[in-house]
Amino acid sequence: MIKINENFLNLQQNYLFSTIHKKVDAYKAQNPNADIINLGIGDVTRPIPKIIVESVKKAMDEMGEKATFKGYGPECGYEFLRQKIAENDYKNLNIDKDEIFISDGAKCDTGNIVDIFSLSAKVAIADPVYPVYLDSNVICGRTGQYNNNTGRYEKIIYINLTEENKFEPSPSQLEEIPDLIYLCSPNNPTGVGMKKETLKLWVDYAITNKSIILFDAAYEAFIEEDNIPHSIYEIDGADKVAIEFKSYSKTAGFTGLRCAYTVIPKRIEIQASNGEIIRLNEIWKRRSSTKFNGVSYIIQRGAEAIYSEEGKKQVKENILYYKQNAKIIKNKLEEKGIIAFGGINSPYIWLKIPENLTSWEYFDKLLTKYNVVGTPGVGFGRNGEGYLRLTAFGDREKTIEAIDRIVKN
Ligand code: PLP
Repeated sequence: MIKINENFLNLQQNYLFSTIHKKVDAYKAQNPNADIINLGIGDVTRPIPKIIVESVKKAMDEMGEKATFKGYGPECGYEFLRQKIAENDYKNLNIDKDEIFISDGAKCDTGNIVDIFSLSAKVAIADPVYPVYLDSNVICGRTGQYNNNTGRYEKIIYINLTEENKFEPSPSQLEEIPDLIYLCSPNNPTGVGMKKETLKLWVDYAITNKSIILFDAAYEAFIEEDNIPHSIYEIDGADKVAIEFKSYSKTAGFTGLRCAYTVIPKRIEIQASNGEIIRLNEIWKRRSSTKFNGVSYIIQRGAEAIYSEEGKKQVKENILYYKQNAKIIKNKLEEKGIIAFGGINSPYIWLKIPENLTSWEYFDKLLTKYNVVGTPGVGFGRNGEGYLRLTAFGDREKTIEAIDRIVKN
C-alpha cells in the first residue's frame, strides 16, 4: 500500500491565521456595523509603483511579437536582473551575478534550501520567528517529534528571543553547536534588527564551528539605523559561511507579482563524505535546474525597473509610507506607557501586552472592545506568549484611528 510522507503529520497545525479569520468573521456576523480595522495583516496594500507596471507591460508586449518572444527562461534568473542586483544591492560587497539566484519568493527559498543539506544536519531556529523555517525542517524529517508539554520539537536547537535579550539572538545562547543557523533580520514578528556587532559574533561563530548561516533579510529595505546591516556580507568572512535571502515582496509590493532572490557565494564549500569539496552554489544551481522553472520574464523586467533612478524613488515612497505608519503606532503606544519593540527598522511592532492577559485574550479584547485586529504573538512560537504583532502595512488614516482606539481606552 502506498505510504505518505508522515513527516506532514508531525507538523503542528498552524491555526493562527485561520483562527483569526474565524474569530473576526464570527464577530462581524454578530456585529454587522462594527468598523473593524486590521493591523494584523502581513501583506502590503499600496499599489505597485508605476514604473514597474510600465516595465511589466512593455515586457508583455515583447512576448506578443515574434522577434522578441521568449519561452522558458534561465532557471536561475535572467542576467539583466542578476547583474542589476550585484551592482546595486551588493555594490562593494564582492558578490558576483552568478552567486545570485532569482526566485519566486523568499518563502519558497527559505523552505526549499533544506534540500541541499544532510538530514542529519542540526538546525538552530529562533523563537519567535517566521514559521516557514521550522515547518520546512519538519516536512523533510530533520526534526524529532513535537512535544506537547514543552511546545517544542526534539532535535531543534531553539534560540530564545526574549525581552531580556531585547529579542536579539546571540551565539552565547546556543546549548550545542548547530550545522545550520537561521537568522532573520529585521525579524518577523518582533521587528528587531540585528546589530552589526551581534551579526559579527554569528559569522565568527559559524567560521569557527563550520556552521552555515541562513540569513533572511526580507525586510532589509525598512532598515534606517546605521548599525543594522542590510546584508550579512557586510561582515568579513560571511561570504564563506552565509546564504542570504531577499525579497521584493514587502520592498516593492511584489507579494502578488512574485519575485525574490537568494545569494549563495561560491566561497561556501563543504566537504562531502568521500572527501570531495563541494560548492553549495553548484548544488543549488543543480537543484534549481531540476525543480524550478525560473521567474517569468515579464516579472523579472518589472523587478529590474526597481533599480532605475525613478524606480528607486517610487519604491522608497511606499516604504516611507509604511515606515511612517510604524512610527505612529510605536510612538502612540509608548506615549501611553505600553512597551513596544520593532517599528524602527521594520514594518512590525511587537507590543508587550500591558495587562495580565495571554496573546489570545488580548486579541479578543482588541477585537471586541476596540474593533482592532492584531496577530497573537504566541502564533510565532512559545516565547511570543504575552505579545501581539501589529503591522504598518495599512492605510494611514485607519492605522491612526486603530491605534487611537487602543490608547484612548
Ligand atoms: N521571510 C520573512 C521573514 C517573511 O516574513 C516573509 C513573508 O511574510 C517571507 C520571507 C516571504 O517572502 P516572499 O513573499 O518573498 O515569499
